[in-house]
Amino acid sequence: MEIKQILDEVLPQVSKPTRYTGNELNSVQKDKSKVKVRIALAFPDVYEVGMSHLGLRILYHLLNEREDVYAERVFAPWVDFEEIMRERGIPLFSLESKSPLSEFDFVGFSLQYEMSYSNVTNMLDLAGIPLFSKDRTDRDPIVIAGGPCAYNPEPLAEIIDLFVIGEAEEVILELVNLYLDHKKSSKGRIEFLERAARIPGVYVPAFYRVNYNEDGTVKEILPVKPGIPERVQKRIIRDLDRVYYPTKLIVPYMDIVHDRAVLEIFRGCTRGCRFCQAGMIYRPVREKSVDKLTNIAREMIKSTGYEEISLASLSTSDYSALKQLVEILTDEFRQCMVGLSLPSLRIDSFTLDLARKIQEIKKSGLTFAPEAGTQRLRDVINKGVTEEDLLNSVKGAFEAGWNTVKLYFMIGLPSETYEDLEGIARLAYRVVDAYREVRGNTKGLKVTVSTSTFVPKPFTPFQWEAQIPLDEIKERQRFLKKKLKGPNISYNWHDGKLSFLEAVFSRGDRKLNSVLKKARERGCRFDGWSDMFSFDKWMEAFREAGVNPEFYANRSRPEDEVFPWEVIDPGVEKSFLITELKKAREAKPTPDCRFNRCHGCGIMKLKGGIICDSKNED
Ligand code: SF4
Repeated sequence: MEIKQILDEVLPQVSKPTRYTGNELNSVQKDKSKVKVRIALAFPDVYEVGMSHLGLRILYHLLNEREDVYAERVFAPWVDFEEIMRERGIPLFSLESKSPLSEFDFVGFSLQYEMSYSNVTNMLDLAGIPLFSKDRTDRDPIVIAGGPCAYNPEPLAEIIDLFVIGEAEEVILELVNLYLDHKKSSKGRIEFLERAARIPGVYVPAFYRVNYNEDGTVKEILPVKPGIPERVQKRIIRDLDRVYYPTKLIVPYMDIVHDRAVLEIFRGCTRGCRFCQAGMIYRPVREKSVDKLTNIAREMIKSTGYEEISLASLSTSDYSALKQLVEILTDEFRQCMVGLSLPSLRIDSFTLDLARKIQEIKKSGLTFAPEAGTQRLRDVINKGVTEEDLLNSVKGAFEAGWNTVKLYFMIGLPSETYEDLEGIARLAYRVVDAYREVRGNTKGLKVTVSTSTFVPKPFTPFQWEAQIPLDEIKERQRFLKKKLKGPNISYNWHDGKLSFLEAVFSRGDRKLNSVLKKARERGCRFDGWSDMFSFDKWMEAFREAGVNPEFYANRSRPEDEVFPWEVIDPGVEKSFLITELKKAREAKPTPDCRFNRCHGCGIMKLKGGIICDSKNED
């Protein structure tokens, strides 16, 4: 029986069947027999999470612009449907043509967070694709992956055939062209991978050998074939106005996490927060012009009917023409009641004016991320925000009518003490005081404090630092629970066990591939979902694979240690990261190079950043 027919029978038995039906407005239908290359864009989470991801949407439409390519989507089936699939022998299939994944030329995973790795392995299993690259034959798809986690590809190095490092819009088309050319020959996948490894931005782990020291650290990573680069430099798009951007976004039938038109306004960030991987790996800063953005917004609203446009970037208020853009968009869309949302606003550059402007149309909760409770610790992490900045911003927001504020902090940051934790509670209460000052009472006020646990990430100044032990994470959360009790304040925290595993896989090496295999065999998947996450199963997997997770999470590294991810070159130099680490230890901030001199992070060698270019003109 065809997958389509079986679905008619079984979908009424599962929760949220529209996760698997496809056929949404603006989804692409092609005759699969008439295309030359078929790509399954796989997101290792459920439909509503994956469909909220901008990168997937860009690549889907970009690839489908080509007549000879058919890109389809596939998401991780929720456990109820997975059970039926396994019972009935339904292989993992694409949403568009309901084809088994094994029919595709490429299966491309988007790696947004480490705790989705178990879904990658489970999806491969459900697709009947061998887990390890070495076991695949010419009949199997080429399994590729990209996204921020690809900057440390090693925990998946034996599972993924090929990683795309950096921005994929150009590389993916180069890979397709190479594949078309390769298909003309009678050569197999190994030969294709050899040719692919020569494309800038492509990392094929099978062509690198890792040697270890006796203490288990990496000694060296060496290419094993001639012509393979020693390090793979990330790819960037230099001119964002000229790069493809989809305007006919798919409109889902069901609620998804971010169900709105997304306007990407710029890439990169120069703030230099020392814990933040995105701030380092997405450099340099490149912007789209106001004209371009206005045209895209207009087209998107016309073709989707969305009633909200979200301005996407790492730090929206850093967009150089934000006021102008907000004015143009609010004026243009006021009539049709299309609202604007500005996530990732920085509290120091948040302006009352802007808040009022957005509020004209829709009012949503405001989020601020001071990250640490004291000025000392904010200087350590280089979060250039003062308590005064925060209080002025929230006061402005309260005056403009807001009454819901979310405050994000991290616990376990390097050098954190209980005084810093006290500072978190103090700040939350000062926000309540600010409300009282503005409104005369605290009626209607809701302050939510959220903490996550610091995870040291590759290519950040804190990549050498240890994560605090699990017991200590719990102790610090308990401390805050006691401190943050009040009628207007609520406290929630991220599960420390998840942060621990995230720290393991963030800075892990190739030995973790066997842990992922064992974890899959134990049924680990959807680890980001608290009701599905089983820490015990993970610990069993580590034990059975003979791998000590604390070696990766809780160990601080000497400056001269070779890291598993050093085979990747993100543009930002190690020497800059070490300088930043030393300054952190002295609680010395580094000002944003946007408003100051260049600090020589190294990204200039990639060319194309507006901030870097302006320094060259100085
Ligand atoms: S190269 Fe200099 S100007 Fe460019 S992002 Fe790095 S520090 Fe800033």
